[in-house]
Parts: sequence; C-alpha cells; structure tokens
Amino acid sequence: MRSSSPFHVLSTLELAAFVAFAASFVYLLIFFGVEFFRSLLLRPSSDLWADDCEDEKVVSVVAEGFLQKAPCGQALDGETPKLDFDPVKPAAPKAKPVETEKWDEQIDLSEEDEEVIASVVAGTTPSYSLESKLGDCRRAAAVRREALQRMTGKSLAGLPLEGFDYESILGQCCEMPVGYVQIPVGIAGPLELDGREYSVPMATTEGCLVASTNRGCKAIAMSGGANSILLRDGMTRAPVVRFGLAKRAAELKFYLESPANFEALSSVFNSSSRFARLQSIKGAIAGKNLYLRFSCSTGDAMGMNMVSKGVQNIMDFLQKDFPDMDVMGISSNFCSDKKPAAVNWIEGRGKSVVCEAVIKGDVVRKVLKTSVEALVELNMLKNLTGSAMAGALGGFNAHASNIVTAIYIATGQDPAQNVESSHCITMMEAVNDGKDLHVSVTMPSIEVGTVGGGTQLASQSACLNLLGVKGANREAPGSNSRLLATVVAGSVLAGELSDVSSRPASSSRAT
Ligand code: ADP
Repeated sequence: MRSSSPFHVLSTLELAAFVAFAASFVYLLIFFGVEFFRSLLLRPSSDLWADDCEDEKVVSVVAEGFLQKAPCGQALDGETPKLDFDPVKPAAPKAKPVETEKWDEQIDLSEEDEEVIASVVAGTTPSYSLESKLGDCRRAAAVRREALQRMTGKSLAGLPLEGFDYESILGQCCEMPVGYVQIPVGIAGPLELDGREYSVPMATTEGCLVASTNRGCKAIAMSGGANSILLRDGMTRAPVVRFGLAKRAAELKFYLESPANFEALSSVFNSSSRFARLQSIKGAIAGKNLYLRFSCSTGDAMGMNMVSKGVQNIMDFLQKDFPDMDVMGISSNFCSDKKPAAVNWIEGRGKSVVCEAVIKGDVVRKVLKTSVEALVELNMLKNLTGSAMAGALGGFNAHASNIVTAIYIATGQDPAQNVESSHCITMMEAVNDGKDLHVSVTMPSIEVGTVGGGTQLASQSACLNLLGVKGANREAPGSNSRLLATVVAGSVLAGELSDVSSRPASSSRAT
C-alpha cells in the first residue's frame, strides 16, 4: 500500500492528519482573514470608484442597478446617494420601499411607532396631528420623518434628527418638523463700535464672508472704531380699507392724520401690548381705497405681531364712526414686509441706522491693500453710479445682504426680512487732505428683535448672548433690539470696506 500510494512516504493515518490540518488552516484563514483577502483579491476597479473623492470631486454611485458618476455629495436625478452596498457587485435594483423598511439609522422605532407610521402612510392619521396625538414632539418628528421617507421613497439620511429641542418650536417657529439644517457659525471681530467691542456671529456657508468681514473689523479697530446713530425705531403695518366714494376715503385719511385725534387713537392702539407705542399714521389714497401705514415702537420685539394687533384695535374702533368702511386686508403691502419697496427705503421700517468710521490711510494700505483714492473712485462707480444704472432700489452697496442675512440666521431674526433690512447706501470720501477715508453705511429699515420668534431658540439665543443683547431689556425696553441693529450696521460697514477693497480695479491700483 505504502509503495502504491503517491504519498508513499506517509501512512494513511498521517495523510488523514495532514488533510485535517490543512482544512482547519483554511477554516481559520476564512474566519479571521476574509476581509483582508477579499480586499486584496476583490478590490473594485477604477471604473467603479473614483480614486480620490476630494481631488476628483466625484463619487461613484450605484443606483437602480447601474453605475453613474455624480459630484461629491450630489445625488443622481435628485436621489440621495446610497453607499451601503457591496462595492463589487452592483446592488440589485431596489424594489419600491416596503412600509416596514427602516430608512434611517437615527430613528429608533418601537412597535407602537410602527403602527402610527403605517397609519400616517395610509393617510388615516394626518401628519400635522402627530404632536398632539403622541404628546411628545421629538417622537412626533421621528415618526413623521420615517413616514415621509417611506411615502416618498427618498432618504433623509444626512438631515439630523437628534440634538434638537422640538418642544421649543411647537406652535412658534416651525410646523411638521422632520429634522433641522446645520449652518456653521463663524465669528467676525472684534467690531469696535461706539466704544465697545463685539464678537459678531455669522451663520453662513459662503466661504470668505466671515474672513472678509473680519478684515473690515480689523481696519475699523486700527482706525479707532466706528460710531453709529439710531435715527428712528418703528415697525409698520398698513391695512387697506374701501369706501363707496373716494370722498369718504379722504375723510378718514384726514381724520387719522389730524394731530387732534392722535391721543385717542394711540390709547386704542397701545392697549394691544405694554410695549406698543403708536408713532404715526400716514394715509395714501388710490381712488376709493385708502392705504394706512401705522408706525409704532415695539420694545425689544421685531414687532410684526404687536403692530398687527394694534392696527386691528384701531380698525374695530373706527367701525363706529365709519360704518361704511370695508376692511379689505390688515396687510396691504404698503407696510411693506419682505418685498423691495420704496416706502421702506424712503420712510424707513424697523430701525434706521447710520454708521461711520474714518479709516486711516496707512490702514487702507496695510490692511485693505488698496488706496483711499481707489476706494473712493470704485465706490462711486460701483455702489452709486453702477446701482443707479441698474435702477436699484436701496441697493447702493456692495454686499450688505451678505452680512445682514448671516447675522439674522445666527441670531434668530426672520431671514426673509433681509430684503428690506439690506437696503443700504455706502458712501466713501477722502478726508484729512485726502490722506484718510470716511466711510458710512445708511440703512433705513433694519428689522430686528431680541424677543419672540426664533430669538428664543437655544442656538440663536446663545448668539444673542454673545453680543450682550439676549432677551428683553428690563431697565430700558427696546435697547437690546436697538443695539442689535447698530451691530448689524457696524458689521455691514466692515463688510463693505473689505469687499470694495478686494475688487480687481482697486487692488490693481493699490499702494
Ligand atoms: P413680534 O411682535 O416681533 O412678532 P412676538 O409677539 O412674537 O414678537 O413677541 C413679543 C412678545 O414678547 C410680546 O408678547 C411681549 O409682550 C413680550 N415682551 C416681553 N418683554 C418685551 C420687551 N422688552 N419688548 C418687547 N416685547 C416684550
């Protein structure tokens, strides 16, 4: 037997022992080393994967069973890229999502949640009712999110769910939440304004914006700081009323604008809030329609709710003496909220602020890397003449809205009000025998508050706290929101200085 076997040096027993040893070696290899060997043997080809996502700005995405390439972070045809597939074998085409599929690692769902999700998907439970039905805002958001993903077949992975206080927005800030968007907050400053220093929070995804504003702050600080003056503080609301004849509309206009009636009207208006104080009423006639622009101070609140309540009080009061008056709308666009309008540019809305600084010639050269002469010339050509050529309305500036919007988002203002809040004329003039630069921004309608709306939320409130204007000012109501408006204007001043300095025309003439 020994001589007839090819393994004639081994006995049958020895042969069996060798085979057993080899088998257990292979088993151990598979058990511990499979990922390593698979990665060596089965490395995906460069057809499947971009070599370096950062360099190439592409990532391969397997979708619906075929390969495509899309920019980093961007889905194909609006689909969210799903990368949890076997990199070797393209995933089989996905069937339409089944109701029990879990889309999101963030969501921990109980059996009870699954039932609610099923009823939302089936349409028997309205999504908006989840907070009241479940009595738990975070759970309502999780359930709504999962139901939404199942109904749309789209993943929300990447939109955070956890780490947010959903109770704090209930009935105040956002309905039917499914998560929250993250926006980085950068700090520009210190901004030296009116003898104080401010670290200015800016929420933005625009690269260089914070850095540029920071450079402007530096130029201001090295020149002794900026100063601001609050010219006016009054929120407006304008209802439209209609009469049978223009004559009657005019009679009401004269009645409301008469100084003799102001006291009676203001006591009716002011009863809406301990902070609302009527300042003026202006009427504009269009045939038999009358547009009434009410203006009032609103303490530390931005004031839209407050002024609207005051206007409603006046409308009720007027019905007695003007029973033929039809109130067509409590807001007629003559206010004017969140739309570009000359009335805000000319009359102002919210806080009207002018802010100025004298930047030393030396600082213009060293920090802004340009010259006083070049800045004055470009400001005239761009912010004044260029904007006039474009038929601008309040847009006589380089990028006020960039700074306004970033501060508004960080501090919980209504970002849609950036429209009129960004109205700004930037002036630059050579002073001190042409050595230094006088720069100013005049902003007639900065609409900000430090109470109400988004200002109460944790992150936004932290940013207000950083500026020292969190919440209501108890000693002097209104002074927090007024201070915030001056900080907005001061930051815009810094942004304008830096932006105009960085234009090619001026930099080519630097020094
Ligand atoms: P808005 O009028 O800006 O929409 P809200 O009505 O949401 O503001 O919030 C203002 C609320 O805050 C009012 O109910 C008001 O009574 C209260 N409040 C407390 N302190 C102040 C203050 N210092 N200034 C203005 N409002 C204040």
